[in-house]
Amino acid sequence: MFKDMFERDSSLSFEVFPPKKDDEFENCYNVLDSLAEINPDFISVTYGAGGSRSKKTVDIASYIQNQLKIDAMAHMTCVGSSEEDILAVTRDLEAVGVNHVLALRGDKPRDMSDEQFEQRIFPHATDLIHFINQNTNLIVSASCYPEKHPEAISMDSDIAFMKMKQDMGAEMFISQLFFDNADFYRFIERTRRAEITVPIVAGIMPITSAKQIGSTVTLAGSSVPKKLADICARYGDSPDDMRKAGIAYAIDQINDLKRCGMGHIHIYCMNKPKMTKEICDAI
Ligand code: FAD
Repeated sequence: MFKDMFERDSSLSFEVFPPKKDDEFENCYNVLDSLAEINPDFISVTYGAGGSRSKKTVDIASYIQNQLKIDAMAHMTCVGSSEEDILAVTRDLEAVGVNHVLALRGDKPRDMSDEQFEQRIFPHATDLIHFINQNTNLIVSASCYPEKHPEAISMDSDIAFMKMKQDMGAEMFISQLFFDNADFYRFIERTRRAEITVPIVAGIMPITSAKQIGSTVTLAGSSVPKKLADICARYGDSPDDMRKAGIAYAIDQINDLKRCGMGHIHIYCMNKPKMTKEICDAI
């Protein structure tokens, strides 16, 4: 059970994404088989923006739960969904024995107009959490942002909405990626003052290619400390060195978190089992 892991000082979980194409499932299963050897506490599966590819999320979560016998968590976004859409996915998850979702609003999909976005049925993750709790028996967790969500007007307001997610029934938070642990420690302090008492898991993304800084990281709104920027500048054109330095950075980050008593770690492993194993062997 996912709650048991918080009786220990540390835990390890991974995020994977489902295959984009139907003929890539076999490869994804191989990735998951390798990740399973590391024995994580749970594996979460992302959800396509606007609900596209939700069936793939269910299929991959089912493989994790039923074939690998590892707790699976299915991400779910509501930005482009009706109540019926959400109920259909929750029914599919319950039918395959996946009982834990990460309830998210999601970003505005490219093909959604501003007007459609303004008129969305579930305005925020808080609404989705409430709806799932009212209508299903699923365990619900939610996201949080150590450097605040890019749209939030302030850290205080973002943390107030985080508290609302807890009040609506979120049983755990997974953090957005961050690279400076000081940001995370400050954030945790503020959440405790705001009476957020459920566990908060630290999201760590290893940077093994300088390109990631320009894409994923910019989208997430996370700041890049000088030390990491220097690594990218020095090794950006040398893939092997960049990979080694990025892995070493992630290991240092995780070991520091563990030393400071924040050992519940969720690795954004980007479907790279070899890299993930190298990190896990060193922490
Ligand atoms: P919300 O919690 O709704 O927050 C969005 C903004 O609204 C914030 O500024 C917040 O302060 C504010 N807010 C929150 N509640 C309220 C309220 N009740 N009233 C007014 N304002 C409010 N995206 C995907 O498409 N697929 C995924 O699988 C996925 N997985 C993710 C996993 C993690 C761990 C994280 C951190 C993010 C993930 N995302 C994913 C990205 C996420 O969808 C975006 O960050 C999105 O912009 C916000 O989603 P949210 O659930 O945090 O939104």
